[in-house]
Amino acid sequence: MKITIVYDNETMREGCGADWGFACMVEVEKGPNLLFDTGAKGSMLIDNLQKLGFDPSTLSSIFISHPHGDHTGGLSALLKINKKATVYIPSSCPVPAGAAQVVSVKDHCQIQENVFSTGELENMEQALVVKSKEGLVLITGCSHPGVRAILKAAEVYGKPYALLGGLHGFREVELLEDLKLVCPCHCTQHKGKIKASHPEKFTECGVGKVIEI
Ligand SMILES: [Zn+2]
Ligand SMILES: [Zn+2]
Repeated sequence: MKITIVYDNETMREGCGADWGFACMVEVEKGPNLLFDTGAKGSMLIDNLQKLGFDPSTLSSIFISHPHGDHTGGLSALLKINKKATVYIPSSCPVPAGAAQVVSVKDHCQIQENVFSTGELENMEQALVVKSKEGLVLITGCSHPGVRAILKAAEVYGKPYALLGGLHGFREVELLEDLKLVCPCHCTQHKGKIKASHPEKFTECGVGKVIEI
């Protein structure tokens, strides 16, 4: 599988914009590509997607982690040029206008082959779980329910291998012990502490970053 960061507070690719928010493309061996979150500004999201080689009008699935503007802000612009995407929202999230189909997620569920949701945690946020050949890859928006709760909710799908996304105020670095790859993005406040405690697992995040597992 392959993850490409398309929206983040930092950029690693010349010509791509950086802005407070998060989005990444998730490509799996079987099944269509999926966009995780949509950043804050539609114009920047669409521009970055195109510069990184993705056609926003042909995306078939959009997964929304939680209803904060830095994760949902690009959605309406995207749906104006994409009339066929299915949007997966946590059940507390307002239903977006203009989507071909909306799936409101409350509990654990399958999105497509090898791709799952943790279900809505703390009545606000869901994380994406991808079964890869190495183990589970967990992708988070802001981790508002806490990394501990997200890891716990993902347990039903197997053994976690990687954690990527916004980790907010997370500092319980001992929870990362069994993971092989950690890529803190976006709102993560303690990147330095995470890097210092697990330098061999730490991966820098920024727009244009590609992680293949
Ligand atoms: Zn955020
Ligand atoms: Zn948030």
